[in-house]
Order: sequence, then C-alpha cells, then structure tokens
Amino acid sequence: MTTELTAAFQAKVRASDCLVWIGATNNQGYGVIVVEGKHHLAHRVAFAAEFGPIADGYVIDHLCRVRNCVNPMHLEAVTTAENNRRGRRARGLAVGDTCNNGHVIGEGDLYERSSGATECQHCRRSCNHSGKDRKRSTTQRRAPRVLDDLEAAARAG
Ligand SMILES: [Zn+2]
Ligand SMILES: [Zn+2]
Repeated sequence: MTTELTAAFQAKVRASDCLVWIGATNNQGYGVIVVEGKHHLAHRVAFAAEFGPIADGYVIDHLCRVRNCVNPMHLEAVTTAENNRRGRRARGLAVGDTCNNGHVIGEGDLYERSSGATECQHCRRSCNHSGKDRKRSTTQRRAPRVLDDLEAAARAG
C-alpha cells in the first residue's frame, strides 16, 4: 500500500472504531462514570456530550452491540419499545443468516422460542436427538446420529 492509501484506509477504519470504556462497568457490562458524586452510564454521558440531552422516555442503543463502547457515532437514542425490539432481533437469527454450524437459514428453518429469541431448526433438531439418545441408551448404541444422517440422506435421494 502507498502511504496515501494507508492513511486513507486508516482514517476510514478509525471512523468506525469502538471507543471501548476501560473504566468501571456495571453488572450488565455498561461503562459507569461518576459525575458530581452520582453514577452515570458512560455511553449516555458520551451521547449527551455529542448530541445534547437525551429526551425523556428514550434509551441509548448501541448500534455496534459493544456495551462498553462510548463512541457517540455508534449510539442512537431510541424508545424503550424500539430498543427491546432490536434486542430481540439481535439475540436470534433471521432468514438469510448462517448459523454457528453453517446452516443457511431459509423460510421455515427458524425456530422461535417463547422468549422471542430465534434459533436454527437444524441445530435444534440434532441437539434434541443427541439429548434423547443419551438418555435412552448409555452403552449399546454409540453412533445413532450417523445412522440418522444416512437415513436422511437416503430419503433425500
Ligand atoms: Zn462501538
Ligand atoms: Zn444450524
């Protein structure tokens, strides 16, 4: 890379960097700062310093999902309802996502728990399988999942 390009590159990277709070954090992982003897959430202080006071009924949402980030550019004032909605979405998968085990999530591949969190149907099924097998047979059958996979493959043709 040329020096110019490096500089341009770094400028862009820095612009989106999280400013990670290294001071005290509360039990939820948010940065805490003491101002005039009172505890404040560091990211709220950072937001107010950049954009002005936070309106009543609004909470500060981390767009970057890094709880101890205090970069005002990563923060947005949203209503509590909107924040909860985003929190739910962030906890789960959506159609088009790839789960931790590499399954591409299509329509019908999502399982929604009562909590609103979503998970991969494929992973959930294999998880239930191994749980059941462990209970039913401790010694006899050692490879039930392989058999299931072969069966599934045969069925799929
Ligand atoms: Zn951030
Ligand atoms: Zn999966």
